[in-house]
Amino acid sequence: MRLISGFGVLLLACLAAFDAGALVLRGSLAQGGLVIGTVAPGAAVSLNGNPVRVAPDGRFVIGFGRDADVSQTLLVKTPDGKAETLSLSLEQREFQIERVDGLPPKTVTPPPEYYERRKIETGLVREARKVSSDLMDWAVGFQLPAKGRISGVYGSQRILNGEPRSPHYGLDVAAPTGTPVGAPAAGIVRLARPDFLLEGGIIIIDHGYGVSSTLMHLNSVDVGEGQMVAQGEPVGTLGATGRASGPHVDWRINWFNTRIDPALVVDDAFVSEVTK
Ligand SMILES: [Zn+2]
Repeated sequence: MRLISGFGVLLLACLAAFDAGALVLRGSLAQGGLVIGTVAPGAAVSLNGNPVRVAPDGRFVIGFGRDADVSQTLLVKTPDGKAETLSLSLEQREFQIERVDGLPPKTVTPPPEYYERRKIETGLVREARKVSSDLMDWAVGFQLPAKGRISGVYGSQRILNGEPRSPHYGLDVAAPTGTPVGAPAAGIVRLARPDFLLEGGIIIIDHGYGVSSTLMHLNSVDVGEGQMVAQGEPVGTLGATGRASGPHVDWRINWFNTRIDPALVVDDAFVSEVTK
C-alpha cells in the first residue's frame, strides 16, 4: 500500500518502481479536482471499488466532488494479475459564502406549476452527463469559455435573495450580453436548449469518458445536439437567461454525476507533468 497525499493546488505522482510500469497521475488531488492517470495498457483501475474506464493506451480520468472524502482508494491490476492499492489523500478545501440578491423570485422558489417542467429538464441534463463516449478531449486541457471577469466560483455556499441554498458548482465569467462563448474543450454537443427555467440557454458538451462541460444562461445557443465542436469554437453567446442576476456564462464540468471545479482544469498545471 502506498500513500500519496497532495496539499497545494497540484499533486503529481510518478511511481516508476511500480511493477505494472509507471503509474502517472496529473491534475489536482483535491476536492473538486479532475485527475488524469496513465497505467500500463491492459491494466484495470478502480476507484473506491468502482471500475474506472481505461483507454487502450492506458489513460484514464477520475474526479472528486466538492465534499469528497479526503481518503480515496485507487486499485490497479495488471493483465498478469499483479495488483497494487494506492491511498490518495485529497486536499481539503474551504469554500466561500456568496450572497446573490435581485434574482427573479420564480427562479429561486419555482412555483408548483414548474415542477413538471423541472423534472423534464433535470432528466435531460442527467441523460446528457451519463454518456461515456470514446472521445479523449479531456486529456488536452481546458480553456475559459469567454473573456471576462470571474464573478462566481465553485463550491460557494449560496444565499439567494436571503435564502440559504445548495452550493454553486460553476465558474462564472461575466461579460456583456452577446459576447461569444467558446467550447472549453472539443467534443460532441449532447444538449442544446434555449430556455430552461433555471439554466436559461444551456449547452452540454461531451468530452469523452464521462467528462462534460455545461454552459448556462446563454443569450443564444448556436449549435445543435450531435454536432462536433473544436476547442474554442463559438457555440453561443453570453447572456442572463434563467436564474441569473446579470449577464455571465456559468461553466460547469462533470465527471458523470461528480461536479468538478473548472478553475482546477484551466490551470496550466493541469496538463504539465511533475515527478514526485
Ligand atoms: Zn453561476
